[in-house]
Amino acid sequence: MTTERTLLYTGKSKTIYDIGEKDVVLVEFRNDATAFNGARHALLEDKGRINCAVDAFLMGVLAKNGIKTHWLKRLGPTEILARRLDMLKVECIIRNRAAGGICKRLGLERGRVFSPPLFEFFLKDDALGDPLLTEDHILLLGLATQEEISTMKVLSYKINDILSPLFSEVGFDLVDFKLEFGYYQGELFLGDEFTLDGCRLWDQKTGDIYDKDRFRQDLGDVIEHYKQAALRLGIEV
Ligand code: 5GP
Repeated sequence: MTTERTLLYTGKSKTIYDIGEKDVVLVEFRNDATAFNGARHALLEDKGRINCAVDAFLMGVLAKNGIKTHWLKRLGPTEILARRLDMLKVECIIRNRAAGGICKRLGLERGRVFSPPLFEFFLKDDALGDPLLTEDHILLLGLATQEEISTMKVLSYKINDILSPLFSEVGFDLVDFKLEFGYYQGELFLGDEFTLDGCRLWDQKTGDIYDKDRFRQDLGDVIEHYKQAALRLGIEV
């Protein structure tokens, strides 16, 4: 894409550009993979392209099901046009099963099913290591209002209700995932991304891991698994 662009923000795996239009940004999905707050880094060939394709597909599914998302259109293999959101500084996590952080924090057995699914907030702050937040913490820090807290929870559960069956139909358990929301013209929209970098996906039969834990845990074949997951969802990569 040859649009005039000005760098707005460089994240760990995405770059956001201004393209001279007030309400939109260009989002580029890069091949960078990071873990442990940036302590591990690698360039994984094709990751940006696969993430961009998976994100486009899942944001499309969510939009069709009535979720307002920042996603507008694909501009190229690794680039999208998105609404420019004013992001809230919290991460919303839904957990259908125990894995990762919650096992460490509460000593839970990996794989334990949560019914109903568990919702958690985390502070979006690398310097502090993204700590867990209670709703009172959010109010104390002025990160969101009670109404925004409720809206983010309702939207997160709704997104889980849409995506869990979609993954289940192709033999995956959507174990957990992270969402980020922001304001666009006075309304809360889903921003950031929904890719295999920000969720856990286990094969229902074999228990095989198809998400970024392959990179975090050095299990190998990260991109092969990302591709396989995309293909099973019917996404061309
Ligand atoms: P945990 O709290 O177990 O580390 O993460 C829960 C879920 O949220 C996992 O699917 C994980 O990939 C996702 N997640 C949490 N924090 C981040 C983050 O900073 N970046 C990304 N890409 N995903 C995250």
